[in-house]
Amino acid sequence: MNQTILNQGLALRTMAPDTCRAQQNILLQNHIRQAMQGSHYKKLYQDCGVTPEDISLANLGDLPLTSRADLNGNSRQFQAVSDAQIRDLSLTSGTTGSPVRIPYTHHDLDRLAYNEAMAFYGAGVRPGDVYIVGVTLDRCFIAGLAYYSGLVTLGATAVRSGPGQPARQWECIEQLKPKGIIGVPSFLLQIGQWVQEHGYNPAESSIESLITIGEPIRRGDFELTPLGRDLQQIWQTPIHASYGATELETGISECCAQRGGHIHPELMIAEIVDEQGKLVPQGEAGELVVTPLGVEGFPLVRFRTGDITRMHTGPCDCGWTSPRIGPIEGRLAQRLKVKGTTIYPDTILQLLQEIPNLGPAYLEVSAAYDLSDEIKVVVAEENAINVKEIMTLLQARLRVRPEVEKQPAEAIMARMSEGHKVKRFFDNRS
Ligand SMILES: [Zn+2]
Repeated sequence: MNQTILNQGLALRTMAPDTCRAQQNILLQNHIRQAMQGSHYKKLYQDCGVTPEDISLANLGDLPLTSRADLNGNSRQFQAVSDAQIRDLSLTSGTTGSPVRIPYTHHDLDRLAYNEAMAFYGAGVRPGDVYIVGVTLDRCFIAGLAYYSGLVTLGATAVRSGPGQPARQWECIEQLKPKGIIGVPSFLLQIGQWVQEHGYNPAESSIESLITIGEPIRRGDFELTPLGRDLQQIWQTPIHASYGATELETGISECCAQRGGHIHPELMIAEIVDEQGKLVPQGEAGELVVTPLGVEGFPLVRFRTGDITRMHTGPCDCGWTSPRIGPIEGRLAQRLKVKGTTIYPDTILQLLQEIPNLGPAYLEVSAAYDLSDEIKVVVAEENAINVKEIMTLLQARLRVRPEVEKQPAEAIMARMSEGHKVKRFFDNRS
């Protein structure tokens, strides 16, 4: 990346928050103007008499939220450029609803590369560093392409090793001596385990840093999850969680302080809202709502990510002043209500990970009659710990007592690997 652009980016990330907000207001109005080039926002804002000049950070919260349901089947109405300007078409992964078509212009691809370059810089990546991109670059996914172009833009070197095949990953590590790997935590753990099983020590390899995507490696209080702990233990390196949403064309990574991922002031505005869409008090958990800035092809405003997290605004040890988004604590769509208590499946799965030698386990939820969800935990019958002990352990931490059932490990593994990726949560509510 051009040194002047890098310096400008760093200046924005270290300036006084008030000065930064003034600059964001201008970017926000430009973004709203661009969003109104698409028929959805044009109609929506004209109907409520909103013009871009009326909008600022102070009243952004008055604008309607945009949900994934709004995008389903309506992608064209959000497109703000002509088809001739589109250079890349991606599809969302469709974990909730059907995949959505996301068009990128040349400018959007450059913006995405800059986004990742700045996120990586915050995570300690420097020009000249070699990183394995252990994420797919094809299949209409954007994350792999974003990581790749971010490394290249920063002046680092990308190794497009992709996911899977630990033997090949180890060959890349041995031959190319990369400084870090970008990948899904359970996959990075699998590589480490394979390396150990073949008589080598991952901690003695060239790998000094891991950047993760997908599964949570940290809890809301920044402590590592059991998966995060295993990963750190095997590789003996710092781990930086990254987060992004395809619809937003924007992503963040944890900085060196590992206390959340800094917002990119020139690329996004983040809000944490309650069930009514109102801002929650500082530091409290709520749904992350993001307005990306400067997107040309598919500019969204106040997009509901469905992810539960917290915003942190205090000073950060890394020296950057921009607010940080904490670890994702759950998915709104997966929120369980059990006798008045709110629980996220991830919390239960993390508690299960803490039980030594538990083996494969999954979670199944169904709707009960009294507006309460019924949780069933299925664990392998081969392990020594009995059902009652697991129930008591879960109850101590969750304040509710889920049903625990034992089944053969083989049957559990078969159920978990029915789909394209390993599934640990089965939602049977209608
Ligand atoms: Zn920081």
